[in-house]
Amino acid sequence: MCGIFGVTGLQNAAELTYLGLYSLQHRGQESAGIVSIDEAGATHARREMGLVSEIFSPDTLRDLPGSLAIGHTRYSTAGSSVLANAQPAVVNYHAGPLVLAHNGNLTNARELRDDLVRKGSIFQSTSDSEALIHLIARSDARNVEDQLLDALERAEGAYTLLLSVGKTLYAIVDPRGFRPLVMGKLGDGWVLGSETCALDIVGATLVREIQPGQWLKIEDGEVIDLPDLAPKRHRRCVFELIYFSRPDSIVFGESVDRVRRELGRQLAREHPAPGADCVFSVPDSSNAMALGFAEESGLPLEHGLIRNHYVGRTFIDPGQTDRMAKVRIKFNTVRHVIEGQKVVVVDDSIVRGTTSKLLIQMIRQAGAREVHMRIASPPITGPCLYGIDTPTWDELIAANQSVDEIRDHLTVDSLGYLSLEGTLEAAGGDPARFCHACFSGDYPTPVPGRSRSSKEPALID
Ligand code: AMP
Repeated sequence: MCGIFGVTGLQNAAELTYLGLYSLQHRGQESAGIVSIDEAGATHARREMGLVSEIFSPDTLRDLPGSLAIGHTRYSTAGSSVLANAQPAVVNYHAGPLVLAHNGNLTNARELRDDLVRKGSIFQSTSDSEALIHLIARSDARNVEDQLLDALERAEGAYTLLLSVGKTLYAIVDPRGFRPLVMGKLGDGWVLGSETCALDIVGATLVREIQPGQWLKIEDGEVIDLPDLAPKRHRRCVFELIYFSRPDSIVFGESVDRVRRELGRQLAREHPAPGADCVFSVPDSSNAMALGFAEESGLPLEHGLIRNHYVGRTFIDPGQTDRMAKVRIKFNTVRHVIEGQKVVVVDDSIVRGTTSKLLIQMIRQAGAREVHMRIASPPITGPCLYGIDTPTWDELIAANQSVDEIRDHLTVDSLGYLSLEGTLEAAGGDPARFCHACFSGDYPTPVPGRSRSSKEPALID
C-alpha cells in the first residue's frame, strides 16, 4: 500500500510534502521519496528505503527546490521491497520530465509488462507503476493528455495517481475509485494527498475529494477538470475505513472515526457479550470500535492492552520471520484491568491469526477469567488485489478455517465477526459503492491466473 502527496504553487513544496508524507507514514513504511521540480523545470529527487523521518533532514530538503513536489510512501504489494521500486518515478519524456506516484495495484500489470517487453520496453523496476509510464511513452496519441488517457484506458485495477509533466500537475483516480485522494487549498497553492490528515498537517483547507474516474490538472495555479474516464461501478475499498486510513481522516466522504465507532456499535448489536465485565481494544486501530462497542453494550471501556509506540512499523517487514517476537515487543497487558475479569477484546480484523493468538495468550497469562473476541469486520477469506497488503489464500486463517475452528485456534471463549451487511451499513452511504472482495470473494476485476477449479489464483508478483 502507499501514500501519495503533491504540492503546486508554493515555494517550500518539498518541505510541505515532507510533512504530508509524515502524516501518511501509516500507508507505507518501506521506502519514501520526494521529487521536486524547480523553476527551470529540472527535477530533484530523493528516494530511500526507510521511514520519512529517517530519509529527510533540513539539508536534504534544501536540495529539493521548486514550487512543485510529489511524494510517496511505499509498502510493497506488487513488486519487491527494493530501492529500484521506490517512488515517485522520474523519466525524461518528450514533453519534459514526467514524475509519477501511484497508489493501488494494476491487476493486468503482468500482461501489460509482457506485452511491452515484447515490443522492446526495458524495465528498470518490478513495480507495476512502471508499466503505466511505458504505456504513456509509447502511445501514438498526439498530445500529453491523449497519451495519458491512452495508457489509463489499458490499465485495469486500482490507480490513484499524482503525476507531473513539466510544471503541470495531474491528479487521477481510476473509475472504480478503490483508493482515496483529496485536494486542498493552501495560500495561493494547491495540495493533494491520500487522506485529509495530510492536508491538516500542512494547514490546507479541504476543497474536494477526487471522485472515481475524475482527473484534473493544475497549471499556472488554475485547476482544470478533464473529461471523466469511462465510468465503471464505484468500488471504494471498505478496508480503508476499517483498518487502513487514519481515524482523523475523512475518506470517501466519511469520517473514519465515525465509521469505526459505528462498526463497534453494530458489532455489539450483532454479537453482544452478556455477563462480561469490561471491553478493551487491540490498540490503536480498533480503539474507536471498542468505544462504539462499549457505548452500545453499556460495558465499561478499559485499557487492557498497551502498545509500545516506539517500535513503529519499522520492525514489520514483509517476511513472516519472527512475527511472534514482534507481537511481544509491540503489546503488553495491564494486569489489574484483566485479572479475574471476563473481558471482551475488540479488534478490527483477523488476518493470519498470529497476532491475535499471542495476544490472547498474554491476556490469559494476565489472569482473565473469560476472553470474548469480537471482530469489527467479516472474516477475510481472500487477498486484496488492489493495494492492501493481505497475504495469499494459504496464509489467511479465515480462508482455511471456520469461525468455530478459529475460535478454538485462538483459545477464546467466544468469537464474533461483524456481518458484511453490518459492515457496509456502518461504512455509510450506498453499500453497493464498496469493494469488499477480501470478505466476499466478489472481485470487481478479473483475477489474474484464476482457474475455475483452483481456490488460489496465482497472484501478480
Ligand atoms: P493477525 O492476528 O496476525 O491476524 O493480525 C491481526 C492484526 O493485524 C489486527 O490487529 C489488524 O489491525 C492488523 N491488520 C489488518 N490488516 C493488516 C494489514 N494489511 N497489514 C498489517 N496489519 C494488518
